[in-house]
Amino acid sequence: MATVLDIAKRNPNAAPLAVSDAARAAGFIEKTAELNVVAGAAPGGASLVGLTRDQLKDSLAAIDVPERELKMRVAQLWHWIYFRGARDFAEMTNMGKELRAKLSTAYTLARPQVVSEQVSKDGTRKWLIRMASTGPLDKGAEIECVYIPEVDRGTLCVSSQVGCTLTCSFCHTGTQRLVRNLTSAEIVAQLIVARDAIGDWPGATPPDGAFVPSDGGRFVSNIVFMGMGEPLYNTDNVVAAIDVMSDGEGLTLSRRRITVSTSGVVPQMERLGAEANTMLAISLHAVRDELRDELVPINRKYDIKQLLDACRAYPGLSNARRITFEYVMLKGVNDSDADARKLVQLLKGIPAKINLIPFNPWPGSKYECSDWERIERFSEIVYRAGYASPVRTPRGRDILAACGQLKSETEKLRARARMMAEQGIGAEGVYAVGNGE
Ligand code: SAH
Ligand code: SF4
Repeated sequence: MATVLDIAKRNPNAAPLAVSDAARAAGFIEKTAELNVVAGAAPGGASLVGLTRDQLKDSLAAIDVPERELKMRVAQLWHWIYFRGARDFAEMTNMGKELRAKLSTAYTLARPQVVSEQVSKDGTRKWLIRMASTGPLDKGAEIECVYIPEVDRGTLCVSSQVGCTLTCSFCHTGTQRLVRNLTSAEIVAQLIVARDAIGDWPGATPPDGAFVPSDGGRFVSNIVFMGMGEPLYNTDNVVAAIDVMSDGEGLTLSRRRITVSTSGVVPQMERLGAEANTMLAISLHAVRDELRDELVPINRKYDIKQLLDACRAYPGLSNARRITFEYVMLKGVNDSDADARKLVQLLKGIPAKINLIPFNPWPGSKYECSDWERIERFSEIVYRAGYASPVRTPRGRDILAACGQLKSETEKLRARARMMAEQGIGAEGVYAVGNGE
């Protein structure tokens, strides 16, 4: 979604770009991560929100909850934190007063701070979230998280890292100097913050006038890892966060409604499939190695053939469970008819959806978005080959300055997507990546 791309575009507190510019000029694949925060049990006074079952267990053991009670107490905390969205230990009435007092002395149920919220005319919401400080020199890393409501689903786009060590030449996140992995708790906390803000807890109500799905399902029904960062450079925390998000006794998101987007960290893809079993999206963007080496430099490590082989091996693929290939439309760079034909040829045999993304320019970027006629023509070729080829609807343009005047043209594609859905070619879920369940 175009919305997502803008996450990559701005961070008001981003450090100077010198390192990354130098890295790009030198043709580096990646920069060095400067700071890693190790996920673990919450230290004293820290929040329990976002922790895994094991981390909660450690936190309880640390305040001398007897071993024989741990399992039950973890289950109780889990229910309050992740099913009910509790913000105060006092609400946890099935726990004794003494334990609640102990918990509130040692820990909190604090969420990361919402620095700002912007609401688009189309209902899209964007939050700037400040994570808790990790030490005296850290003011708290800031990331953005975007909520895109539709009638039958609500998609939350989450970040996996602060910045990104990779240096894709069209992506603004790649210019950010400070990079660190988010902990699993910080990834989960993005969902908690979103649920708080849109009233997606039992007994809660959405803010006045808020646009939320009206199909009776959860307001956040889908998650896409398409914010800042390369999720498969932070696989441990991403997998742990997905475990928490999809736990049937808590946040209960279906793994089939969680999509992890990667630029192509081939060795981690099998692990993602085996351990997280989510939907997969690939930032392909080019069909020839020479060009992909430049646009998505990780291609120099793992080329298109290796990447597509890893896609073919991804577990559980079928027509109902396709890989999404993201393809950013760059004027005169990757948008020719020949590129479109090569694209469908490359993807032969892989259950696939292709998402064409209008390029979102940013200050200093050297690319332009393809003309609309070109995007349509490209999309037509892909469509004729039997693939859904939606162009991501630029959502939240008023708060995000997305690419150009696309609305009416987007409507045309929407009509086509509907037609494809009727034909059962899998146009489902095309405006929010994911399998559309
Ligand atoms: N790092 C991961 C996930 C985050 S990026 C990845 O690269 O897959 C989410 C998507 O936005 C990716 O497909 C990325 O290539 C694309 N993107 C980044 N900057 C963009 C821009 N300026 N315009 C359009 N798409 C962009
Ligand atoms: Fe941007 Fe993704 Fe490339 Fe990182 S891997 S620079 S987030 S497109």
